[in-house]
Amino acid sequence: MVGPKEPYAAMSRTSLDSAEVKTMLLAVADAVIAAEPALSEADRNLGDGDHGLGMQRGFQAVQAKLASMDAAEGIDKLLSGTGMAMMSSMGGASGAIFGTLFRDGGKALAGRTEFDGAALAAFLRAACDGVMARGKAKPGDKTMVDALHPAAGKAEEVAGLGIGEALAAVAGAAEAGRDLSSGMVATLGRARTLGEASVGHPDAGACSVAVIFRAMSDFAAS
Ligand code: ADP
Ligand code: MG
Repeated sequence: MVGPKEPYAAMSRTSLDSAEVKTMLLAVADAVIAAEPALSEADRNLGDGDHGLGMQRGFQAVQAKLASMDAAEGIDKLLSGTGMAMMSSMGGASGAIFGTLFRDGGKALAGRTEFDGAALAAFLRAACDGVMARGKAKPGDKTMVDALHPAAGKAEEVAGLGIGEALAAVAGAAEAGRDLSSGMVATLGRARTLGEASVGHPDAGACSVAVIFRAMSDFAAS
């Protein structure tokens, strides 16, 4: 018999174990690879147009890396291994930046066996701190930090929720940050040479951050 709690539990996962985190990361890879045309277009508007292909190459390396890993190695190693695969395969500004996101975020989860709202908050705090230390971007510079920083702040607010609800809130914050980046004047990266002409398009890296967390949220909701 279906009890009153089952439909609710199915709608909103409390946490993911390491095998589910591995599958979630493969779903993220699929989503980023599928978003290549949109990410390339975003970088053509403001940069040199290579962001989508770089992210695609990075997540193809992630697919290979994850295939060689056992989920039992742990949530931290799956996430930091994702970052290391990106760093060694992508090149460009975003190889270092997105590699750092996953590597530093993953390292912060050492010893955790469940990916829940608290783990997501710890992941995003370390990821955002690491990216900002590495690339020196601040919120408002019109980079991927404009999606990552609000996502990290939201994750702290919702750290007490289950992973399904927490990821839904974080994905919404990343998308809102991506949208707000349209109105910003770029002060870092290639787009800074455009000055005021950079207004009106979202930052390509912020678009990638939004794709990544929406894919995680969709996975946790499925
Ligand atoms: P490249 O700029 O080398 O062509 P990509 O096109 O792959 O690299 O990535 C560009 C994205 O990288 C930008 O849209 C921005 O979000 C991000 N980015 C660039 N420099 C920085 C930085 N210093 N800190 C954070 N993100 C950055
Ligand atoms: Mg580029």
